[in-house]
Amino acid sequence: MTAHYLATDSILIGGTQAQKEHWLSLAATGEALGAFALTEPTAGSDPADMKTRARRVEGGWHVKGTKCFISNGGVADFIVLYAVTDPEKAHRGISAFILPKGTPGLEAGPAEKTMGLKGGHVFTLNIDVTLPEDALLGEEGKGFRTAMQVLDNGRIEVAAQCLGLAEAAMKAAIAYAKDRVIGGEALTDRQGIRWMIADMGVAYRQALLLGQDAARQRDAAHNGTGGRFSLASSMAKLAASEAAGKIADTALQLHGGYGYTRDFPIERINRDLRIMRIYEGSSEIQRIIISGNMLA
Ligand SMILES: Cc1cc2nc3c(=O)[nH]c(=O)nc-3n(C[C@H](O)[C@H](O)[C@H](O)COP(=O)(O)OP(=O)(O)OC[C@H]3O[C@@H](n4cnc5c(N)ncnc54)[C@H](O)[C@@H]3O)c2cc1C
Repeated sequence: MTAHYLATDSILIGGTQAQKEHWLSLAATGEALGAFALTEPTAGSDPADMKTRARRVEGGWHVKGTKCFISNGGVADFIVLYAVTDPEKAHRGISAFILPKGTPGLEAGPAEKTMGLKGGHVFTLNIDVTLPEDALLGEEGKGFRTAMQVLDNGRIEVAAQCLGLAEAAMKAAIAYAKDRVIGGEALTDRQGIRWMIADMGVAYRQALLLGQDAARQRDAAHNGTGGRFSLASSMAKLAASEAAGKIADTALQLHGGYGYTRDFPIERINRDLRIMRIYEGSSEIQRIIISGNMLA
């Protein structure tokens, strides 16, 4: 429940006090689930190139377009939706809207069949809706900036997911290696295996420290004593997702053939982890953000 509340808190960045109070109070009691709809079929890594268009009409807005890969999009009680309000202004012409469930003209396709994360569901959304004036979340033209702030927060949450899965993979591998006897010796008696365990531990610790650094910077920013934390957040996400991928792969290797079966959790951990290097901005996009900050 806390995680759900925190995630909802993030996607409402930029909204008015009334919008936040309404949706956060419902999220806190589990009555409302939110979704964040930025990605489009031809605009994933470069969301500023989105095509979804919002035009002013009497009493509000008409919004038309398609979003894809939207987590919870088909079941969410409200969707924070990004659309172009002024095509002349590039990313400064993008605005955010709140789209409540059941709005006529909002249609979700079937859930995608994904490699992992079977407990979560992603949907394509076809949108052709009319929204009232107060559906605008925050100021017109500020949507891209707030979407990037949502991602700054979200990347730390992805880093935390990666660290949790990496820790589980490491623990499973160590338990298995201690227990598994080959040629009369436990796997952990072989030096090569011990080196693999050491490398997993170092990779995990490095990623953990970057994750904690980003979380501290985020706390300082939220308390009003710090500035933007995009660099720390991208470093934490890149380090944790790459490290967790390698740790889970090594952990599966240590399980031998049993690791490839569904009898052990390591197979699922590998599938669940794969998306972490892609969503919330891929590893390549994190490197672009990090180098951009370093070269500025
Ligand atoms: C399970 C799941 C959940 C998701 N949840 C959400 C959600 O809730 N809300 C949402 O809005 N989106 C969501 N997404 C979408 C996700 O964020 C995008 O898939 C991701 O940002 C990548 O975009 P893309 O798939 O269009 O890939 P593309 O942008 O087409 O990228 C393809 C490849 O090219 C690389 N690439 C792209 N640009 C560059 C560059 N300039 N330099 C070098 N390499 C580059 C990418 O790293 C990638 O490897 C989700 C996706 C999945 C699969």
